[in-house]
Amino acid sequence: MRADGIFIAVEVSDSAADDSALAAKLAEVCPVDIFGVDAAGKLELHDKNIDECVLCRLCLDAAPEGAVTIIKRYDNDSQL
Ligand code: SF4
Repeated sequence: MRADGIFIAVEVSDSAADDSALAAKLAEVCPVDIFGVDAAGKLELHDKNIDECVLCRLCLDAAPEGAVTIIKRYDNDSQL
């Protein structure tokens, strides 16, 4: 799944998005509430918050390598 703001995009692999334990962890660590958990326990992305990303890397540290990608749209789509 992917959600795009104007400056930032957040991409999460399908397997990570389906992992309810990981979804809960991401929802807990992100300081600006970009991640949430839906009624089925799957990850959801809060579109309106995407551009609030402060590039803190907490989501990257909480997830397996490559599961979460933070894309800097303002910087030629370079990755955090
Ligand atoms: S880098 Fe920080 S602010 Fe941005 S999505 Fe990850 S946890 Fe949230």
